[in-house]
Amino acid sequence: MNIVSSYPMASATTFKCGGIAKWFVCPDDLFEFASLLKLHQGKKYFILGNGSNTLCPDKGYDGLVICTKNLNRIKHNETSVVCESGVDLFNLNSYLAENNLGGLEWSYGIPGTIGGATFMNSGAFGSSMSDFIEKVAIFDDNKIKLLYKNEINFSYRKSSLQGLPIFKVWLNLKKSDKENIIKQQNLVFEERKLKQPLTYPSAGSVFKRTENIIPAKIIDKLGLKGVKIGGAEISKKHSGFIVNSGGATSTDVLNLIKLIQEAVLGKENIRLEQEIIIME
Ligand SMILES: Cc1cc2nc3c(=O)[nH]c(=O)nc-3n(C[C@H](O)[C@H](O)[C@H](O)COP(=O)(O)OP(=O)(O)OC[C@H]3O[C@@H](n4cnc5c(N)ncnc54)[C@H](O)[C@@H]3O)c2cc1C
Repeated sequence: MNIVSSYPMASATTFKCGGIAKWFVCPDDLFEFASLLKLHQGKKYFILGNGSNTLCPDKGYDGLVICTKNLNRIKHNETSVVCESGVDLFNLNSYLAENNLGGLEWSYGIPGTIGGATFMNSGAFGSSMSDFIEKVAIFDDNKIKLLYKNEINFSYRKSSLQGLPIFKVWLNLKKSDKENIIKQQNLVFEERKLKQPLTYPSAGSVFKRTENIIPAKIIDKLGLKGVKIGGAEISKKHSGFIVNSGGATSTDVLNLIKLIQEAVLGKENIRLEQEIIIME
């Protein structure tokens, strides 16, 4: 395990912008992850998966970033699947297809890790992670604890796991067949390509939707589609996304978020809640 100093967060997040992290490390296994957390107790750290829902401000991050990308082991027994928290959702979907396990096809194309997706309660096409979670191993009080689903509060793009490093996630899936799974995954991915600006760096939807509030529709209605601040642009393809159209700084992104929130509050009297996480 190699702790690197002065690490550029633009290379660790899908927005491809942001400042420098003071320290950056990728533990190779759960023992190293636990040791780091013990050693770093009381000090500032941020756990990063694939950085696909995270923005690092331009001033950087004055602490240790622990990236889970090497914690990527998956096992299953019948329809119960256990993943280390850094398992990438693309790899997980391939593993599930190979082993004839269905249920998670909707997540195909979400560029995150299972740890990030559990923390965020990621979802799409009417499903979300919490529908499939059986239990989670977290690190608390210097030891690993198991939390069953009924001990965790999940809501739209939110969980009660705030401040709790996720080590492992157990999922309950169902028997299916490889061909059918791959067909579903491809359908989901085609739909994404059609609707989302996948050729530009972004962090997905910037704002949370509710039953009555669909941010992209409101942003469209206010004529904000395509509005730019510096290199940050409200996507012309999907107004719920801000994209880095080239050379955006995190300040550009944050200023554009503020512009949207103020316009929506002023003209529609609606407070849009941010979905993306800002490293602080
Ligand atoms: C093109 C695109 C499409 C997207 N589509 C969707 C979509 O359809 N649905 C959706 O819900 N999201 C979507 N997203 C957002 C994002 O991909 C998901 O939220 C994803 O699950 C985040 O995973 P991550 O590993 O990248 O998390 P990160 O961005 O690395 O982290 C997000 C949060 O989770 C925390 N975290 C990460 N790992 C752990 C851990 N092991 N323990 C504790 N906390 C942890 C971080 O500290 C941070 O607070 C999209 C993003 C992009 C760029």
